[in-house]
Amino acid sequence: MFAKQLQKFFFIVVLLASILLIYLWYKDYSFSNSPLDKKYIQALQKKEQNLKILAYKHFQIKRNFQITISNKMNANRFGMTTYTKDKNIYIHLNKKRFKESANYMIEDVLPHEYAHAIMFYFKDFTNKNSGHSKRWQNICKKLKGLRCNRFVNHQDILIEKTNPFK
Ligand SMILES: [Zn+2]
Repeated sequence: MFAKQLQKFFFIVVLLASILLIYLWYKDYSFSNSPLDKKYIQALQKKEQNLKILAYKHFQIKRNFQITISNKMNANRFGMTTYTKDKNIYIHLNKKRFKESANYMIEDVLPHEYAHAIMFYFKDFTNKNSGHSKRWQNICKKLKGLRCNRFVNHQDILIEKTNPFK
């Protein structure tokens, strides 16, 4: 009799835990799927257009770098540039950071990351200052970036390969 009650108790606990888990998952899911405010999207597109013009003007680059708004990034990160195994270059901007500092994200973080993307485009995978080399700085400045400090304490590039030339 006692064992049966215990069994029932555990069943209820497991059930409640499952419900809670599904609820948390759903909450997270619906948050990540709600799009960024239209005015930010428009400002981003405008800035991207601007950067493309500068990249062409100074480096004759016609390529589009895909910019994604990520909700999966660590909250203390602003942006990140990745070079994938299939040789794609992605710029990720942290969605969580748009709430309190949208302008900073667009005017400051985006050109900074764009300069990393151009470095990858040139197949420059330097690890110096976590990718913030003199060459990166020059590119950043040409893109009219506001945060082109070489000694930024950020690890914001990811190269998904040990040897990207292979
Ligand atoms: Zn950086």
